[in-house]
Amino acid sequence: MAGENILIVEDEEDIAELLEYNLQRQGYAPRAVGTGEDGLEATRDEAPALVLLDLMLPGLGGLEVCRRLKADPATAAIPVIMLTAKGEEEDIIAGFEAGADDYITKPFRPQILVARVQAVLRRGAAARPEAGQTISLGSISIHPGRFEVSVDGEPVPMTRTEFRLLSFLASRPGWVFTRGQIVRAVHGDDYPVTGRSVDVQVAAVRRKLGIAGDLLQTVRGVGYKMGD
Ligand code: CA
Repeated sequence: MAGENILIVEDEEDIAELLEYNLQRQGYAPRAVGTGEDGLEATRDEAPALVLLDLMLPGLGGLEVCRRLKADPATAAIPVIMLTAKGEEEDIIAGFEAGADDYITKPFRPQILVARVQAVLRRGAAARPEAGQTISLGSISIHPGRFEVSVDGEPVPMTRTEFRLLSFLASRPGWVFTRGQIVRAVHGDDYPVTGRSVDVQVAAVRRKLGIAGDLLQTVRGVGYKMGD
């Protein structure tokens, strides 16, 4: 949607200007700051619709800024797109682990930038389902309030953990979640993160869903998502 505020946190001025220029052309209202500290402050003060966050910043780095934004209830819902160097797969994974919603590699094509920004804003606009609402994905129906899952109308019994994992992924179809994010969502923050236990739960959910289990997809090197 046009006119939305976008905060750019980038110390390299030419890149910040390029981002601003391209976002302005699309009708967004971008603003750039040059340090992680200023990025945190501006996000809290201005509540932008989205933050474009460079990974390599002097002082407080992009990953730490992202972690702090996602840990603060006041800013946790604001989507973050990380800017990473091309080919740095480790950086991309670390960004997702820190809670980033997507990433763009530098140097970027303006069309890619705009497409990613639009996609992330669109996802954010789709409100998360309420407890009483049914989530329907293909032949799968999930009733969060009743802890019930059915495939083609047939009930599928699940453990509470399997149910929470499935409804978490299904609440945001197409979003990729790391094992760490899944463990935190399913068990709460105080539960030790074990990627292996997520893999086991995912395998169990897939098996129970039968053919519909194909919707629960592995994203190599990152984690899992529900196809839509
Ligand atoms: Ca930088």
